[in-house]
Amino acid sequence: MSDCIFCKIVSGDIPSTGVYKDELVTAFRDINPAARTHILIIPNKHIDSVNLMIADDKPLVGHMFFVARELAAKEGISESGYRLIMNTNADGGQTVFHMHLHLLGGAPMKHPMG
Ligand code: AMP
Ligand code: ZN
Repeated sequence: MSDCIFCKIVSGDIPSTGVYKDELVTAFRDINPAARTHILIIPNKHIDSVNLMIADDKPLVGHMFFVARELAAKEGISESGYRLIMNTNADGGQTVFHMHLHLLGGAPMKHPMG
């Protein structure tokens, strides 16, 4: 996707504060952090959203969560806790249409269900 900002981060055409990269995923710090730790874990290949995942993507999505767990440990927030979020489409509040997993933590957060 030539006009996708996160594809450009994967390719290095747009700079980011990278924290992890392997053959499947890239992780970098959110430019507008909503928590002390706010990292985005994204697939290296373009997928618009959770809606556009295919069955073959199941291992990739599992890997995204596994990497999030590892990064939470690295950030020192495993015990204090963290939240993993994938916003989808308008009602979910998705603003960048390259699927991504938010890793948020470092201080208590308001419960999203109120
Ligand atoms: P969402 O609203 O769930 O689609 O999340 C998109 C996230 O991407 C937001 O938290 C933005 O702050 C973040 N974001 C947008 N552009 C960049 C960028 N160039 N580098 C890092 N994070 C970004
Ligand atoms: Zn993309």
